[in-house]
Amino acid sequence: MPQRERGISSAFLRRSDMTDGIDTLRLTAEAAIGLVERRELSAGELHAAYLDAIGERDGELNAYLRIVPTADGHGIPIALKDVISTLGVETTAGSRILAGYVPVFDATVAARCRAAGLTLLGKTNTDEFAMGSSTENSAYGPTRNPWDPARVPGGSGGGTAAAVSGGLAPWGLGSDTGGSIKQPSALCGNVGLRPTYGTVSRYGVVAFASSLDQVGPVAKTVRDTALLYSIIAGKDPADSTTVELPEPVALPTGDRLDGVKIGVPGQVAALTAIEPGVRAAFERTLELARELGAEVGECDLPLSFDYGMPCYYLIAPAEASSNLARYDGVRFGPRVDGESYRAMVERTRDEGFGDEPKRRIMLGTYALSAGYYDAYYGQAQKVRTLLVREHAAVFERFDLIATPTSPTVAFPLGERSTDPLAMYACDLLTIPSCLAGLPGLNVPCGLSDGLPVGLQLIGPQFGENALFRAGHALEGAIGFDTVPERLRRTGEECLDRNRGAR
Ligand code: GLN
Repeated sequence: MPQRERGISSAFLRRSDMTDGIDTLRLTAEAAIGLVERRELSAGELHAAYLDAIGERDGELNAYLRIVPTADGHGIPIALKDVISTLGVETTAGSRILAGYVPVFDATVAARCRAAGLTLLGKTNTDEFAMGSSTENSAYGPTRNPWDPARVPGGSGGGTAAAVSGGLAPWGLGSDTGGSIKQPSALCGNVGLRPTYGTVSRYGVVAFASSLDQVGPVAKTVRDTALLYSIIAGKDPADSTTVELPEPVALPTGDRLDGVKIGVPGQVAALTAIEPGVRAAFERTLELARELGAEVGECDLPLSFDYGMPCYYLIAPAEASSNLARYDGVRFGPRVDGESYRAMVERTRDEGFGDEPKRRIMLGTYALSAGYYDAYYGQAQKVRTLLVREHAAVFERFDLIATPTSPTVAFPLGERSTDPLAMYACDLLTIPSCLAGLPGLNVPCGLSDGLPVGLQLIGPQFGENALFRAGHALEGAIGFDTVPERLRRTGEECLDRNRGAR
């Protein structure tokens, strides 16, 4: 399958008259499906419209690592994070060590998208092996935030998030280990779902930390998110950790929250890391929830707030150090030769991995080593069990938990890239529920200094439908405009051209 070479996109992405006038910044996936079903647009025309937008804006954003120039299905397009294996399309996980790796199979999630008729637009940028919170750890250059290109889109799934909010894809898939769907969705003003662990197949997804990794949708609306989740979720014989959904996905319709009990952890109030503008948008959203009929009360997650981060930064690197052992210069990607097998492997890994995977491999190998295993990895697993119980106790009294998704809005490129601990702190609020295996939804809930703020709703295991219902009702009441302010004129010009043509 032909692929875009970096830097030449605008040369062959000709603007076609047919697609001029489609406002990809505003078009939801649901609306796009309607256009195709009513035969107002063909799959090829829609695909071309997004390629035009990519040609116009991705030089600045770098959301895509590569694009697929022709529609290969009869439905609407989708962008996939580059950790998802795609038949015949290079898959690098943002790493040099997988450069040139072209899978001979589709990940189950990619195959399910294909079976649903979705056409692959391209593979989106990611922190190397999904390790990071800003997409600055990609070996292929950072992605920029469509709301302000001087700022990061979040990470690790910054590519998919920037593609969706920049109008370069109607929707996309990310992967979330400790926040990589929820946090970039928050920073780019998208809706994003991290599903219940075990509801979405990991088969063919480049592994980071297998007990935490989950693929999930990123979109402009909660309904689009639910729709895409219904396409990818469910048992997969190729991934023994998956289960069938206990109930079908229900597209949310209602606009009330009557009787819904929402718990806000008392620990949120004391967290100084939360910026005032984020806190203000969060408080306003809780007020809206009350107006819609929800009962908002205080819950308690003390262990999660104190031990979630340290626990994650033992378990995730430990699993990563094991998963990344497979990149040895023999099975995948480029090889750097050496005088012995050992020298070849060492040189390949030294040149192929960037700093962050190396840091995690060292941390994880140490945590798993004889003599330290019980003190670090074993202890972290015990703490993880306590976090599972702590969340379960909250769900005996509450239907959902609400917090801000990220303590801050999108920060300037470079601000945290040399300070790993500051980078890790981005996921303070997203990590605990990931360790507990629980689903979480980001819903854009306002602006702070012109940048999106995200609300995080956490549900009990398999509580996706409750998240969609509450998220949809809140989304309507919040009325957040998902088109970045600086791009709104672009969208209006598009519509004007459209009107002129009629
Ligand atoms: N930022 C977190 C990390 O670096 C989470 C990444 C993710 O969810 N893939 O591990």
